[in-house]
Amino acid sequence: MSNKNQSSGEFAFIDWIQQQAGRGSHLTLGIGDDCSIERQHSDHDLLTSTDLLIEGVHFQHQWSSMFDLGRKAAAVNISDIAAMGGKPQSLFLGLGRPANIALKEIEEFVSGFVEEAKRYGAVLAGGDTCGSPGGLMISVTVQGVVPTGDAICRQGASCGDAVYVSGTLGDSALALHMLQAGRQPDPFLAERFHTPTPRVGLGRILAQRQFATAMLDVSDGLLADLGHILKASNVGVDLEVSQLPLSDAFRQALAGDPTLIDLALAGGEDYELVFSSPLKDLAGQLGRICPVTRVGTVTSAEGIRILQSDGDLYHCQRDGFDHFA
Ligand code: ADP
Ligand code: MG
Repeated sequence: MSNKNQSSGEFAFIDWIQQQAGRGSHLTLGIGDDCSIERQHSDHDLLTSTDLLIEGVHFQHQWSSMFDLGRKAAAVNISDIAAMGGKPQSLFLGLGRPANIALKEIEEFVSGFVEEAKRYGAVLAGGDTCGSPGGLMISVTVQGVVPTGDAICRQGASCGDAVYVSGTLGDSALALHMLQAGRQPDPFLAERFHTPTPRVGLGRILAQRQFATAMLDVSDGLLADLGHILKASNVGVDLEVSQLPLSDAFRQALAGDPTLIDLALAGGEDYELVFSSPLKDLAGQLGRICPVTRVGTVTSAEGIRILQSDGDLYHCQRDGFDHFA
């Protein structure tokens, strides 16, 4: 940056961020130098993931407070660490700020981001800040750790495994569906959309106890994300549509419009974990940590068959989200 004024602008903002972020005990050096430093240990693997959030693609500025948007930006990245069974530790935040967004709003965003990170024991460890000629752009990188060799990948599901989903599906997509129609979703659905819950505790238990053979988080919709497991593991799945875990708010909407079930199948942004396991009684065993529902079985067939309770096949009318489609 050409303007080296230390008392205002970018550098004052970075000083402010540094104060907000605090320091993680796992870091030798946090924000303020060219790099952060973390001493490496031989008993764990380092997990790293990046996500881009672009105004108009991933969020509409007018739908969400900047604080909640900050929380969500941290949560969806932490969810990627949860999906490997890891413990989130460091977050890196790239910000492209358009001139029409006040610094105050960006600070609210960072406050929400930092608060959400702390909830899961992670810290903001670095980033970059610049102006954007377009909309608001946010790039988040997250790092986490998992005991050596315990990370749960997409590959590893085998025929006969049970397929489980945490929490409930479709709430976030239903909230978005309502917002897009100019309606205000009820508070529960709105919360699921604005501030999703990454399933860190569940993911870590699944990794520690080696319960899951394959896992990922549902960001693009159950069918699309399950499709990634099937492709990586070279298996198929029979999914029982009547077993999908649905919230009361979702069921209420579904009673008025049965086609909304497609939002639970392919809506996206649930940030629940979907995983396969040879164990058939995990719903009971894990229920105290996080609700878990068995929704199907891994098969040797190709692709996903969606079965109705009468045994007939169900055809979902929605595709999962594809940014290049
Ligand atoms: P550089 O010129 O090396 O890119 P910067 O002036 O951009 O350095 O950043 C200085 C310090 O502030 C670095 O430690 C960087 O990680 C941190 N930083 C800058 N922007 C952010 C941000 N948006 N969030 C968190 N840390 C940031
Ligand atoms: Mg920089």
